[in-house]
Amino acid sequence: MPQILNGNQVRDQIKAECLPRVERVVAHAGRPPGLSVVLVGNNPASEVYVRSKTKTAAELGMHSETITPEAKITTEGLLELIRELNARPEVDGILVQLPLPAHIDSQKILLAVAPEKDVDGFHPCNVGLLSTGRPGLRPCTPAGVIQILKRYQIPISGKNAVVLGRSDIVGKPMAMLLLHENATVTVCHSKTRDLPAVCRGADILIAAIGRPAMVTAEYINPGTVVVDVGINKIESRAEAEKIFDPSRMAAFDKNGSLLVGDVHPGDMARLASAYTPVPGGVGPLTIAMLMSNTIESAERRTGLSS
Ligand code: NDP
Repeated sequence: MPQILNGNQVRDQIKAECLPRVERVVAHAGRPPGLSVVLVGNNPASEVYVRSKTKTAAELGMHSETITPEAKITTEGLLELIRELNARPEVDGILVQLPLPAHIDSQKILLAVAPEKDVDGFHPCNVGLLSTGRPGLRPCTPAGVIQILKRYQIPISGKNAVVLGRSDIVGKPMAMLLLHENATVTVCHSKTRDLPAVCRGADILIAAIGRPAMVTAEYINPGTVVVDVGINKIESRAEAEKIFDPSRMAAFDKNGSLLVGDVHPGDMARLASAYTPVPGGVGPLTIAMLMSNTIESAERRTGLSS
């Protein structure tokens, strides 16, 4: 039987560890760690994500606020808001919820966030700190993957890790974090030749491509540890029937959709020695790591750590 790497359990551990850190900041600085979330416009999916972020912050005794400029705000208007947040001492973390409306220059906005408050870890300064192995704020999703592997005592050092996907948000930082853990890392993308063969060489396979259940049996060497970062919603019954065991179709009929990762769930469960399920694997870690990053920023900014 493969080991199921339960992201909800790891999330709960990380949240429990956050509580005394928050108390320490309050005792030292007289205020809790503070997170400002900037949510532009009315994207329903973004609204759901932001609500869970601010809810988790409140559970941990942190201060959080959501600033909601109208969708028609200009790049300059948003830059002005970011400058204000950079200047406010009680704000330790600034998160600009993506995607931003098309007329806004997202790169300019992300560059404007003060690197020490960049709790998403997307600023080039933090990317540079990660790549040179110096302390800094790390992107939440790949940092969460490392937490899952470590807390389940999955050996990383000396292993062949294959990262499927090279985005700035997941694939690239994931590769860098695995490299710092002494894995031998291969990064694949849409131009990689004979992807299944490259993936079969993995001891640890991390899939982050945004293609529902694309990674099937031919990609997975028996015994591989598989981490499925993908989150895809399947809304067509015919597609769901192709991917899921018939026992899951009742859930599809009830909800009108099912979530699937980038890895075929049945093939993963049959072949992997350990794997993260979708949902309940990597997903829950992202917000927990965001909280941890915000506290880390508060610890540095209030002089509790360097
Ligand atoms: P992006 O679309 O930014 O990047 C996808 C990457 O996958 C690209 O590097 C692309 O290659 C590669 N790719 C796409 N199709 C193929 C293919 N057929 N063969 C090989 N490589 C391919 O996605 P993200 O990195 O932002 O997200 C990846 C997945 O992770 C998504 O499902 C997303 O929902 C999920 N996600 C989950 C999070 C969580 O909290 N668990 C957080 C963030 C993302 P190329 O560069 O050549 O185009």
